[in-house]
Amino acid sequence: MKLYIVPTPIGNLEDITLRAINVLKSVDAVLAEDTRTSGSLLKHLGISKPLHSYHIHNEHQTVTRIVDRILKGETMALVSDAGTPAISDPGFLLVRECIKQGVDVECLPGPTAFVPALVNSGLPCDRFTFEGFLPHKKGRQTRLQNLVGEERTMIFYESPHRLLKALQQFVEYFGADRQVCVSRELTKIFEENVKGTLQEVIDYFTPKTVKGEIVIVLAGKAEEKKKTDKYED
Ligand code: SAM
Repeated sequence: MKLYIVPTPIGNLEDITLRAINVLKSVDAVLAEDTRTSGSLLKHLGISKPLHSYHIHNEHQTVTRIVDRILKGETMALVSDAGTPAISDPGFLLVRECIKQGVDVECLPGPTAFVPALVNSGLPCDRFTFEGFLPHKKGRQTRLQNLVGEERTMIFYESPHRLLKALQQFVEYFGADRQVCVSRELTKIFEENVKGTLQEVIDYFTPKTVKGEIVIVLAGKAEEKKKTDKYED
């Protein structure tokens, strides 16, 4: 009687952990954001398990039913299409309900896009804020305004066709000289981590058709201050 949260690769299939494989082999059923995507992964791993759909459009309705099944004795694993469930993916509601109902929850460590993006950026990673996807319209400007004084490194998920628009908007709020790193296609063949000021990174991507998956890591205000202090010394 338990819920496992099982991270899956964000591009490179070799990033599945031995423990993730063993847990997926041991559970009664797998809850999947997309049963076709997770079905292919399980097939690749030689695992055959009942797959149930658990995605953003049905999570409110299915949470109680799933928790009931676990309470009756089943052990389940939650996976998303890629990375760690509940990180900009469905999962939080189920974890919260399990905790409320006394169901044991265990999240395995494993792939997630923001950690390699943060570390690759070379920006301070002792303190950071994960912002996930910014709202597209309503609330976007307020969120950015609230980050203007942020001293910690900031991490954003963004789609490739919105990358340039986001970076240009960041210039308005954080200034063209703010350091940034755009990680594209992490763990995949064409992975790149483009570092520089916001303006330099905009100039790099402007002539290109941006494709693939993107994480933006933006320096916090303190980092800029330290840089100025250094010049002043
Ligand atoms: N649960 C996932 C995690 O743990 O990172 C995130 C899922 S969210 C729906 C998908 C977003 O994660 C993408 O739009 C992108 O911002 C980021 N992402 C996922 N895989 C990535 C990769 N290989 N390279 C860069 N960013 C990635």
